[in-house]
Amino acid sequence: MKTIDLIVPCYNEEEGLEHFVLETNKVIDSMPEYSFRYILVNDGSKDKTYLVMKKLAKQFSNVKYISFSRNFGKEAAMYAGLQHSTADYVVVMDADLQHPPTLFPQMADALENEGYDVCATKRDEREGESKFRGIFSKMFFALSNKLTDTKMPYGAMDFRMMKRQVVDSILELAEVQRFSKGIFSWVGFNTKWISFKTVDRQLGQTTWKFSSLFRYAIDGITCFSVAPLRFTAVMGAIIFVISLIYIMITLVQTLFFGITTPGYVTTLCAVLFLGGITEMSIGILGEYIGRIYMETKDRPIYITKFSNFEDENNEEKE
Ligand code: UDP
Ligand code: MG
Repeated sequence: MKTIDLIVPCYNEEEGLEHFVLETNKVIDSMPEYSFRYILVNDGSKDKTYLVMKKLAKQFSNVKYISFSRNFGKEAAMYAGLQHSTADYVVVMDADLQHPPTLFPQMADALENEGYDVCATKRDEREGESKFRGIFSKMFFALSNKLTDTKMPYGAMDFRMMKRQVVDSILELAEVQRFSKGIFSWVGFNTKWISFKTVDRQLGQTTWKFSSLFRYAIDGITCFSVAPLRFTAVMGAIIFVISLIYIMITLVQTLFFGITTPGYVTTLCAVLFLGGITEMSIGILGEYIGRIYMETKDRPIYITKFSNFEDENNEEKE
């Protein structure tokens, strides 16, 4: 019998987690040819998510959990789940039922019978999403596909089912600053894309703010491409050539025609323009240096506080 691990990052999901497990169990019950296991990852929730997890683990023997010492972010939570997974097929999904478990049979079929290594999802339509966020995410996908080697269709989501081999490859990319969308496509393998219509979150709150989405987009590009650095170099070269031409024109004018303009505006424009360009280039450089710095520290991606995995004897004493 093939096994499937469900990796579920949870941050402040006390309201919806139990509902999620009960709904997912309905799908699991309809697939008796597979043996399912939950790996719930509590990403330092501020509410009682951890207690809900413990309760669920008591109630259902196939519920495993890992609880972080603080909020490390969804990427870290996914990584922890993947590290603990041992199943033949591994699913990554959200705890808010925006990723419908009803797709499991279709996903498992793609891996089992159609020869795919990954069955990933992309969204059809995002109800309740603001126009602004929609435009922003279209721009992100276009830019990131242009600048990086990793190609992903518009609306690609983290929700996917992967074969063991794919998970092992993903785990080999042990970088601290993780950008899963990029990592998933970087490792390659045969991917089947299925689309579905997302629905609004039923319970609890989304934790994404516009600033974190912006951050996410910057991460997505800088983690997989040095194109911004090349852009500053090319821009520098273009400005250099233009300056040379301008210097020659000015010199000829001054030496041969004796035109000596006061040049206040020219000077001011040049100083401000070049100052702006320089600041921006330093900023881009800094972005990469910051990344090198964080990466060389080689800190752990997450810290476990409690878990009910047998190999970690750190379960809370009652
Ligand atoms: N999540 C997490 N850590 C965080 C933020 C979110 O583990 O710091 C989890 C959250 O519990 C949920 C999933 O990531 O299962 C997606 O979060 P959310 O629904 O808030 O994002 P959205 O669906 O709006 O992209
Ligand atoms: Mg959500």
